[in-house]
Amino acid sequence: MLVNLKEILDMAEKGGYCIPAFNVYNMENVIGALHAAEEMRAPVILQVYPRLMKEETGYFLSPVILAAAKRATVPVCFNLDHGPSELEATRSIRYGATGVMLDGSTLPFEENIALTKKIVDFCKHVDVQVEGELGHVGTTADDSMDEFTTASDAKRFVEETGVVCLAVAVGTAHGRYKKPPKLDIERIKEIREATNNTALVLHGGSGVPDEEIKKAVKAGIRKMNFATDLCYAFIDCLAEDAVKPDRAVAVDTFMKRPIEAVKEFCISRIKLVGADGKAE
Ligand SMILES: [Zn+2]
Repeated sequence: MLVNLKEILDMAEKGGYCIPAFNVYNMENVIGALHAAEEMRAPVILQVYPRLMKEETGYFLSPVILAAAKRATVPVCFNLDHGPSELEATRSIRYGATGVMLDGSTLPFEENIALTKKIVDFCKHVDVQVEGELGHVGTTADDSMDEFTTASDAKRFVEETGVVCLAVAVGTAHGRYKKPPKLDIERIKEIREATNNTALVLHGGSGVPDEEIKKAVKAGIRKMNFATDLCYAFIDCLAEDAVKPDRAVAVDTFMKRPIEAVKEFCISRIKLVGADGKAE
């Protein structure tokens, strides 16, 4: 069933676990992630990068996500990931998204608050909630990994914007890590306390050691994003199969194994964050 961002995060908060958020780029990714969610009886978030929403991919991909969510027997939320502006936010809502991330983390603090609040205010009218970001979660290629979120800023940000969850910078980055990151678990706890237990989001979940992820969930991470490793699972399988002399040529048949690879990856992450068996 299709649920909104608040509904799915409330489940995680109540059960003390974390919802895996899988970035999907095409129909095969959606099918793989959905099969994993069904088999694991897990609530999941399927999310889309703003680039896809700006290009025509979002137009074609969104109905696929909605079809998957509506047919699913487990809760599925359709979220925009890293929306930089009103354009992507409104377009996503028009395409049926039930959650919107507004990423104003590269803006000065006050501007981030103002833009995020503006998006929260209009999303309210269509029962869509907003994920904000504070403290910049950079990429593994840059040096911005020291801009950690502070508890006092987070408190003000949550109070003034009305976001339903907050992406925090606590040691992760986007992309493939050169060395495994160490998360600031104490900081996660402090931010939770300062924000009246607001659901916190960890971006850059790919490549974080399993033990660190478990500690982060225990400390209050309620949504964790997996994009890079899902891409690798899909592409590595595809590349491997493409050079086999006996490979299938009909694309639907060829895609069966890459879909399975995405499914297996999603199953491993669902178990890791403790979302398996939580759909009932
Ligand atoms: Zn991210």
